[in-house]
Amino acid sequence: MSVLQLVGVTKTFGSGRTKVEALKNTDFHAESGELIAIIGPSGSGKSTFLTIIGGLLSPSEGDVIINGQNLSALNEKQRSRIRLKEIGFILQASNLVPFLSVADQLRLLNKVKKGNMVQAELEQLYEDLGIGDLRTKYPSDLSGGERQRVAIAKALFSNPSVILADEPTASLDSDRAYEVMELLKSETKNKNTTTIVVTHDIRLTGYCDKVYNMTDGVLTLQEEH
Ligand code: ADP
Ligand code: MG
Repeated sequence: MSVLQLVGVTKTFGSGRTKVEALKNTDFHAESGELIAIIGPSGSGKSTFLTIIGGLLSPSEGDVIINGQNLSALNEKQRSRIRLKEIGFILQASNLVPFLSVADQLRLLNKVKKGNMVQAELEQLYEDLGIGDLRTKYPSDLSGGERQRVAIAKALFSNPSVILADEPTASLDSDRAYEVMELLKSETKNKNTTTIVVTHDIRLTGYCDKVYNMTDGVLTLQEEH
């Protein structure tokens, strides 16, 4: 059974003359241990696809099935429980709480949910991301790239089974971007997660097992390594 499955999923925004078919009839599946890239131009439907997979946005038609659970059959409370338990989001707008230090952002997650990384794993993650010295800082003290790396730490800390990353390397220099892809790859392989990364940067697709292209709401498998 696939970890993640989309069956006949579409998404339409607006109606009449302002109608946009952001996602056309889409079938998709992903297995555990797979690192998948979605590439495509701006406005092609990549973020729509990712937010539908994560249950943050409901499809206009079709089904999203995560670990055998059909999201459309669940109510909002049940969906948010699945999001909390199974999904780690690394979104474009960094999801940091402005009035908490870096260390407290992660401490808060520990209160909300069990099954997070143990202290030694967290220390390693801080080190891998190069944010060990930022623990006492607040989001407003951080650069865009640092905020992005803290957001990545937050997403990985909860040991999700599905990691969804929307342009996670957008405000990083090339070396940092490669390091983040290495990290996502080792998380995916060591913990047997399913990771989907949206990116503009085709240099990063070499790290991925499969590369899909999104064009005008149509998803096509482009490469399989
Ligand atoms: P990408 O992430 O590839 O840049 P998006 O998924 O954000 O693309 O957007 C796909 C299309 O859907 C675009 O034409 C965008 O304008 C439209 N769209 C996305 N979100 C909304 C929304 N909430 N309301 C109306 N149109 C939207
Ligand atoms: Mg986008």
